[in-house]
Amino acid sequence: MKVERDNRDASMTSSTVHDPLGLLQELIAIPSVNPMGNDLSGPQFFEQELTKWLVGFFRELGTPYEIQPVADGRSNVIARLEIDSALPSIMLEAHQDTVPVDGMTIEPFAPLMENGRIYGRGACDVKGGMAAMLSTFARLVREGTTAGANVIMSCTCDEEYTAKGARHLAQQWSCDQESQTPVSSRPDFCIVAEPTDLNVIVAHRGVVRWKIQTHGRACHSSRPQDGHSAIYDMAHIVSALEKYAEALQENSEPHPLCGSSSLSIGKITGGTSVNIVPHLCEIEIDRRSLPGECSAKLLEDIEQFLRSETTVNFTFTPPWIDSPSLADDFNQNLAESLLNTINGIVDTPRVKQGAWYGTDASTFAAGGVPSVVFGPGSIAQAHTADEWIEIEQLRQACEIYYQFCKNPTGLSITL
Ligand SMILES: [Zn+2]
Repeated sequence: MKVERDNRDASMTSSTVHDPLGLLQELIAIPSVNPMGNDLSGPQFFEQELTKWLVGFFRELGTPYEIQPVADGRSNVIARLEIDSALPSIMLEAHQDTVPVDGMTIEPFAPLMENGRIYGRGACDVKGGMAAMLSTFARLVREGTTAGANVIMSCTCDEEYTAKGARHLAQQWSCDQESQTPVSSRPDFCIVAEPTDLNVIVAHRGVVRWKIQTHGRACHSSRPQDGHSAIYDMAHIVSALEKYAEALQENSEPHPLCGSSSLSIGKITGGTSVNIVPHLCEIEIDRRSLPGECSAKLLEDIEQFLRSETTVNFTFTPPWIDSPSLADDFNQNLAESLLNTINGIVDTPRVKQGAWYGTDASTFAAGGVPSVVFGPGSIAQAHTADEWIEIEQLRQACEIYYQFCKNPTGLSITL
């Protein structure tokens, strides 16, 4: 399918600009692959091109926007529709990046519309949600002062790997009032776009990822008695962690919406050559936390457990991901109010749910903003080889975001 790129001008009709289908096709055609921590470069990697496109979009709308540099070549773009400071402010958030495209069975960046679906990388996670939000935002801006809320459209970077963009934005909110800009100052509520099948996610688990290292003494493998194997030491750590993970699964109290805590070892590396006794072995651990669990405490518990179970020396590296869980005790008013709008539009009633995956919503909630996750598409299609989204859901999500911002009935700032 041929995609018209950035050829809009003042003569373009507002209905074209508002069309989420056209927007989604444009977004898919601009690669924004997250290299996921790997040393990769090339035109398809990072969000830079999409960031430029978003800046053009907001500039054309004529609404205030700002670019927040987050890391080398990676930025958040945030725009604001300010109606009246007495109204609640609602942030609509969608991430700019997608997961990689290796192994895809469709053309990732050539959007294809077929059988009521749009195919392409990001169609479902989360360029579909972004298109619906951008479409809503554009419609509200062009309609002028009739919205029932001030609306912030936030497009963040690096959600799929370390959520740098969301963390950067939330950190701005903790600065004193003078250091916050009028565009990106702290909102009252936040809706994060992820494919939820139009349900409202009110709780999800958090995740901590870190490494454990064992340190040996290298020597020639023909005389292993002269050295000390880091791999043998790590074997003790791995066995102890397996025991810990089983106990966690069996004994920890599950959360009614998020299930149990979990621990998994995802990677092991060690040694340099078969004829050398290894001096270093390293594992990477993924520990999922429930609402109420604190990452510093759980790391301390695991370290204590390992010290009691083994006699080997080991070290913990600082976590490279420490993402909080989303608790459902702080966002009920927002969830109920949004559900009212949703169920006034869809035929099959939607509900509040928990999720096993993490999102930017927990970072915003930790920054003091009641947050939920809501968007078109199913998580079953996210990150898949033939990623797609149902066009009907895309349109419904668009209408829901719009109606909610227009008339956020029941939303109360005093919680
Ligand atoms: Zn996503």
